[in-house]
Amino acid sequence: MSDDDQELGITESKSHNTGEWYAEVVRKAGLADYGPEGMSGFIVTRPRAYAVWERLQGFLDAKFKDTGVRNAYFPMFIPESYLEREKDIVEGFDPEVAWVTEAGTKELEERLAVRPTSESIITPYISQWVRSHRDLPLRVNQWCSVVRWEATETKPFFRTKEFLWQEGHTAHATSEDAWNETMTRLDQYESVYEDFLAIPVLKGQKPDHDAFPGADTTTTVEALMPDGKSVQGATSHHLGQSFAEAFDITFSDAEEDERTAHTTSWGLSWRALGALIMTHSDEQGLVLPPTVAPTQVVVVPIWQEDTKDDVLAYAEGVADDLEAAGIRVELDDRDERNPGFKFNEHELNGVPLRIEIGPYEVEDDELTLNHRPDGEERVEDREGVAETVRDHLDTVYAKLYAAAEDTLDGEVREADDRAGILGTLGQHGGYVKTPWCGDEACEEPIKEPMAAEIVMVPFENDDPLVGDGVDDDLDDGSDGGAGHGETCAICGGPAERTAYFAKS
Ligand code: AMP
Repeated sequence: MSDDDQELGITESKSHNTGEWYAEVVRKAGLADYGPEGMSGFIVTRPRAYAVWERLQGFLDAKFKDTGVRNAYFPMFIPESYLEREKDIVEGFDPEVAWVTEAGTKELEERLAVRPTSESIITPYISQWVRSHRDLPLRVNQWCSVVRWEATETKPFFRTKEFLWQEGHTAHATSEDAWNETMTRLDQYESVYEDFLAIPVLKGQKPDHDAFPGADTTTTVEALMPDGKSVQGATSHHLGQSFAEAFDITFSDAEEDERTAHTTSWGLSWRALGALIMTHSDEQGLVLPPTVAPTQVVVVPIWQEDTKDDVLAYAEGVADDLEAAGIRVELDDRDERNPGFKFNEHELNGVPLRIEIGPYEVEDDELTLNHRPDGEERVEDREGVAETVRDHLDTVYAKLYAAAEDTLDGEVREADDRAGILGTLGQHGGYVKTPWCGDEACEEPIKEPMAAEIVMVPFENDDPLVGDGVDDDLDDGSDGGAGHGETCAICGGPAERTAYFAKS
């Protein structure tokens, strides 16, 4: 191996040193660099990762626009007096807020918060824009970055002090409309993960004690990482009336009576890129589903001096056909690199499909295709290359999804007492499902020794413990259920819901 090859290759083991392996893939596949000294927790996003973000943005933004959302942009600073109007937001984000106190040489009269999330500056404007029920629902979204001075360890994309995201904010006439909105956005987040990133997710709500500051209910999509930890993939919050009351969003209804609106907010960050890299990549480097890959296919011609002209002309023809069909293709005809080097490099960078073309392929009017995730090799006819490549790209997506689904399916276990929960989490990681009374205190005996928590509670319809038909007025509008005689795994009291414990 030359120095070059060594520099290219991944040396850490995904299964044994997941954290180090992840950091190596991020760096060597040219996805991100760490921020300058003194700015730990900040990253520089390089073009390959940014291109993936742009694709994700395009996918989600189209869904938003199809469902009544319009984009807007608000200032990145929030006056302290605005932030203080909703007390839960202040308390929830206080330890993580960065402040601007001076401009040039002058001290500011009022401190300005660098937005950790924008409810406190967007809601007052929504309040000005809403007059009557005819102005509702009102939906705005912004693509921007926010700053949260995270106290816990940071990791590129997963947890950074500044991160790119979208935040949607809506106002509605009724609680039911706001709840439907919350679920529409959660379904769209599920679709981003499952239909675009090839990552199956679990959908549900956060326990009340872990809801977003000021929210009635926080809903979440959770993805399982290969190290057995759960990642909160995106959240959609039913904010109830707390923000509408704090910022005075009132409207006159059809009878001209004044009423207070119900609001939602929902966000997906570049943590989704972290989950993407972590889920599919391997010890050769980055693996990307064709949906998001900046280059979907690389054509690598393999020639000797006497076959060079024929091979190159044939390879160019193939690349041209693919490009004309709208496939993102690169022809790697670099003279100074040998095919082995090129294979390694494109594998490291996550190109989902490779087409090899040598003198035999030219002679037989064929192509050799190689799938990035598992190295499967297939020989196909040159004719109809665009159709063939599309089929193979679909197959690559299906392989990635199936592998991730297999992992998830095998990692949801059950336990019905504290020892069982701790033992299962300790031995396997993954999710442990258990009957739960709904009390935060019953999370502590797991959280304290294991650093695991209730990451998700399934919705009423998905929860076998719920459904006695009596309206117990849970935040998600469900009847709460009676737990069908089951008892909480921790305290032994009546179980209300099923809790999913996991390390996160
Ligand atoms: P939140 O506004 O707290 O509900 O966050 C919305 C989404 O942003 C979460 O579901 C996370 O996926 C993501 N997120 C939160 N904090 C960070 C962070 N420090 N870095 C990257 N993504 C984050």
